[in-house]
Amino acid sequence: MTVRLRYAPSPTGDPHVGNIRSALWAWAFARHEGGVFYLRIEDTDQTRLVPGSIERIEASLRWLGLDWDEGPDVGGPYGPYVQSQRLDGYREATGRLLASDNAYRCFCTPADLEAMREAQRAAKQPPGYDGRCRLIPAAEAEARAAAGESFVVRFAMPREGTTTFTDLLRGEITYENRLLDDFVILKSDGFPTYHLAHAVDDHLMATTHVTRGDEWLPSAPRHVRLFEALGHPVPIYVHTPVILGPDGGKLSKRHGAKSVLEYAEDGYLPDALFNFLSILGWSPDGATEILSRQQVVDAFDIKDLVVHPAVFDTQKLEWMNGVYMRAMAEDELSEVFARELERALPADVVRPLDRALVAAITPLVRERVKLLPEVTALVDFLFASDVAAPPRDQLLGKAYRNRADAAPAAIDAAVAALDALEAWDAAAIEECLRAVAAQTGEKPGDLFMLCRLAVTGKNVTPPLFESMELVGRDASLDRLGRAAEVLRAAAG
Ligand code: GLU
Repeated sequence: MTVRLRYAPSPTGDPHVGNIRSALWAWAFARHEGGVFYLRIEDTDQTRLVPGSIERIEASLRWLGLDWDEGPDVGGPYGPYVQSQRLDGYREATGRLLASDNAYRCFCTPADLEAMREAQRAAKQPPGYDGRCRLIPAAEAEARAAAGESFVVRFAMPREGTTTFTDLLRGEITYENRLLDDFVILKSDGFPTYHLAHAVDDHLMATTHVTRGDEWLPSAPRHVRLFEALGHPVPIYVHTPVILGPDGGKLSKRHGAKSVLEYAEDGYLPDALFNFLSILGWSPDGATEILSRQQVVDAFDIKDLVVHPAVFDTQKLEWMNGVYMRAMAEDELSEVFARELERALPADVVRPLDRALVAAITPLVRERVKLLPEVTALVDFLFASDVAAPPRDQLLGKAYRNRADAAPAAIDAAVAALDALEAWDAAAIEECLRAVAAQTGEKPGDLFMLCRLAVTGKNVTPPLFESMELVGRDASLDRLGRAAEVLRAAAG
């Protein structure tokens, strides 16, 4: 058997990480088995469509490296892959269900349904359609429909007995039929509901495993009945658990969870997010956490998914992103840094950036950042045409707060020594500044921080001596001199 799995999003906005995790697992299983992963757009709820969603869904999958074998853009043997283009199939199935008395037309108006719900509330009965239109003789219903009366089509659920199906992760589940009402399969606008579209398409498109969020679990017995009434074999169901935020609530924006494309925009590496999501409820051995795409594919078995909800830990994702960043080959990482800097540096910085400078920065910052945007804040001073000296208080810091005169004197000594250096490289700069500290009696750390602030304008930077080497002698000495002026001017 060739496995066929699908990602079947509704184009109602950007895919959320929880939603895309189901896609990732379906993809990984299809690839593990040498099967097919396909994309199907479920746009049957015309009221919820958000323009541009399909493109953003495709972009999200592409960015994460989840390639699809069949889909709206590439076609395939079971197309079209957009449900609004498959209405004939739903009509045909509805016709068969009506003819076999597994479905009936319902003419209840919204007001009728509201009155029904009200009566059920008053009588403390569970809500649900009471089946009244089931009693309308088929010929009469047909005549009313032909006369133009608005109707929906409902599935006639058995009133007694039970429905049992198997979820691959949970085993056999049995529902009492009397608790499942006659649900709508075709809406008055001629579009199917999710229930019918699922039963028709996952059959016609030969899906072997339906992986979907477990909010669909209570609907599964309905789907099983639909498959049976249509004479279709029931696919293997895999209901994936919800993801929780650290506070135990359902994961949401409030927990810092974002859409896939927001993670991309915020500078996460796709391999890191892929890895993170793959193990959010699955593990090859209960321990290993860092897994390449290929390792996930090699080890992945869908039946090993964990049923209880996983907790989304943003810090772990950040950590993982750092791991991936550090593991990248230096030239590759340098390219990534260059793209990020091109994106994030102020508009007045001349593009394209000096690639040799980016290459020189890469080894200096790779251990210091977990997220790409942190790079810019660390190194922007290397690209700025000028760096203003920080205000006096910041320059003095704790070290010089009570001995303000010592700070400009220390800078003067540093400038004189640096000016006399033969070679301008990190090792020489370090040796020189250590000698200045020894001569002047300054603590090396205090002197270095003063120089760092003067040359870079900030407290946190790549290593000082390497930074000064990259800034260059003239600019370094100039900035040191201006910092000394700031200190003196304010003092005077
Ligand atoms: N369109 C449904 C959703 O986005 C898909 C559920 C499924 O995968 O069957 O929730």
